[in-house]
Amino acid sequence: MLKNIFLYLQFYFYKLFTSKYKIKGKCNRCGECCKNIVFMIEDEYVKTEEQFESLKGFDKKYNHFEINGKNENGVLLFKCKSLSENNMCRDYLFRSLYCRAYPMVNDKIRLGGCETFESCGYEIVKDKEFSEFLK
Ligand code: SF4
Ligand code: SF4
Repeated sequence: MLKNIFLYLQFYFYKLFTSKYKIKGKCNRCGECCKNIVFMIEDEYVKTEEQFESLKGFDKKYNHFEINGKNENGVLLFKCKSLSENNMCRDYLFRSLYCRAYPMVNDKIRLGGCETFESCGYEIVKDKEFSEFLK
């Protein structure tokens, strides 16, 4: 009984004090996050022009994006039409919450390997390495 209580307390202690991810650095205006946007339709990444057309039919806001290529998994990458030639946002004041939050660490980013674009000035780092817990 006492052992179980101890294990519970230990579990919550580790949960509370486990390492957290944090964002380091600053935006260097490479524009990659505005040129490599992915969308989802019915819990799947958009991979075809037909799926993209369906999205546009569903919500006009998707007209604000154009296809900019495909990634290695065949997922379509989109470029925002507000991005200027010199990688500045033409709608900076009115940009969406997604744009404002990037590169916020959410579950998707955590499960996806916690990486930003290679040219991005931000880095996602752990505040404590696993080896430090073993000391
Ligand atoms: S609205 Fe601006 S910040 Fe957001 S994706 Fe478009 S260009 Fe980038
Ligand atoms: S990828 Fe990173 S550095 Fe490049 S524009 Fe987006 S936030 Fe800025």
